[in-house]
Amino acid sequence: MDQQIAELELRLEQLQPPLERVSTLNQLADHLLYSDPLRCLKLVTEARELAKAHTDQPGLALSLQNQCYVQRILGEHGLSIQAGLQALSLYMELGNRQQEATVLRVLGQIYADLGELPTALDYHLRAIDQFRSLEDQNGEARSLLYAGVTHSHAGDSQEAVNCYRQAIDLLVKLDNVHLQAVAWNSCCVDYAKLGQYAQAYEAGNCAMALFQQTDDRYGVAVTQSSLGEVALRSSDYQQAISLFEAALKGFKESRPDVLNAEMIETLLNLGKAWQQLGNPDQALGWLTRALTEAEKQQLNLLAIGCYQTLAQVYEDKGDPAAALTHYKRYMALHEKVMGENNQRTLANLRVMYETQEAQSESRRQKALREHEQQRFERLTQLRDDFLHHTTHDIKNPLTIIGTSSTLLRMRLKPTDEKIIEYLDQIEYGFTRIRQLLEDMLDLARLETLPALQLESVALQRWLESIVAEVKALAEAKHIHVQLEVLPPDLVIQCHPLRLQQAIVNLLTNAIKYTPEKGLVQIRVVQVENQVRIQVIDNGIGIPPEAIPRLFDRFYRVHNYPVSIEGTGLGLSIVKLAVEQHGGTVKVESEPGQGTVFTLLLPDDV
Ligand code: ADP
Repeated sequence: MDQQIAELELRLEQLQPPLERVSTLNQLADHLLYSDPLRCLKLVTEARELAKAHTDQPGLALSLQNQCYVQRILGEHGLSIQAGLQALSLYMELGNRQQEATVLRVLGQIYADLGELPTALDYHLRAIDQFRSLEDQNGEARSLLYAGVTHSHAGDSQEAVNCYRQAIDLLVKLDNVHLQAVAWNSCCVDYAKLGQYAQAYEAGNCAMALFQQTDDRYGVAVTQSSLGEVALRSSDYQQAISLFEAALKGFKESRPDVLNAEMIETLLNLGKAWQQLGNPDQALGWLTRALTEAEKQQLNLLAIGCYQTLAQVYEDKGDPAAALTHYKRYMALHEKVMGENNQRTLANLRVMYETQEAQSESRRQKALREHEQQRFERLTQLRDDFLHHTTHDIKNPLTIIGTSSTLLRMRLKPTDEKIIEYLDQIEYGFTRIRQLLEDMLDLARLETLPALQLESVALQRWLESIVAEVKALAEAKHIHVQLEVLPPDLVIQCHPLRLQQAIVNLLTNAIKYTPEKGLVQIRVVQVENQVRIQVIDNGIGIPPEAIPRLFDRFYRVHNYPVSIEGTGLGLSIVKLAVEQHGGTVKVESEPGQGTVFTLLLPDDV
């Protein structure tokens, strides 16, 4: 443990990437939660801010969860609840249902600390449901135990016992003997409160046997004290006294330096038992010890019990003055505690109010996000409709212009140079607009494409057919197009149409930007689990300053000696199509020497 802490401290001193630092901070905070809560709070605050700055959502959720734990320990219940709720909604968003259930359980515990038992129960029940749906029996059993304790505090011992019994069934399956013992001990006390003494003894004996089995001396003492309470309630005072005495002995042996609430309560109960047996002197001895400790540790409820019993003992002893003094003390402390309780209730109401505010704010944010999402979907739909309709609206008249000029040329068989020039210009304009339209449509189709439908494609044959497509273009410039696929039977998973578009664009560019009689090559090889496709030309090349913007939409290089037509969209289409296949594209070029475009595609996309 100490070594782990030292290692984590060391790591914090070193430079770490932010996400790793968030994780280290949280791990260390986890170790220091009980031993140094103030330092722990500092660590989680740093983790939280760092995670926020780097939009590390899981790191942020964990930091908030730890903040919730440590602020509970520091007694800052309001802040603790706030952090817990934030962690909860983040885990919900992230779909981390396991952690969601854990935070629900902690929120239940915090509300129980605050005495807000119905809210506490609500969280515990939600946690139980969640753990159950995750089939996490360990989580479910622990939450059932907490729910049981909360029912018990709320005075519903019957429900408490039901929860404990369900927990026990699970704990038996899980073979968790310690928690079984704890659960049986709790059952024992609640059965006694219900007046079901036979069941109470039975449960107590189960707890005892299990604690003995695990050699848990302290657990045995706690159970002896519980069984003593059963005896006291069922008026078996002699039995109660021997059980309480045995419990005290056990407490002393197992934790010699501690005198906690459980032990003080046993002292008080011993006093009560002696008082019932009619031995005020014995009672006085135990009660005085219990009172001294309760006052020292400010355990007001136990002190109240002591004053009340002491007053009765003095009355039994025939000392009305002392009895009155103790009654007065009992009343005064009672009133003080009630006043404090009222104040606490007020403070709790404020926390609850703030919490409700926080919850409604997070609901508002969620609604806002959903609204934004709907708006985005509507806009996308509008844009698609717009593209679809306008391209049709443009395409139809454009086709009329194209065919009309062809018909005109055929009918007129012009010899007049001016008429020929006008017709050439019409046809040139027509081709340009049609190309632009095709490119824009291609881009729009790529962008709105849902998940890619993949097919297995044998590259050699597929590329041969693509080369055939650009054959006419190449032959017109006497450019030789070479294809080489290694190994020749290479197969990839891709969307053939989309990828074909990308390769055709690269090939037409290579042909366009290579002078007559040049050479264009397509080389394909398998490199580990990637396929590398290269389109190589020995053309005019690209100036280095143009490279960074080459894949931008509508970007074109204009300083070539001859003007070459284009839309500036071809390479954007290449990039988008390749990235949709999970691949990358890069370019290397030497002006005057040639250009190489390299596509790297995962072979299983
Ligand atoms: P365009 O329609 O202009 O060809 P692209 O997006 O396909 O649009 O290409 C953008 C620019 O990149 C082109 O204008 C051209 O200057 C340059 N380019 C693309 N491929 C090559 C190549 N193989 N050789 C030289 N320049 C190229």
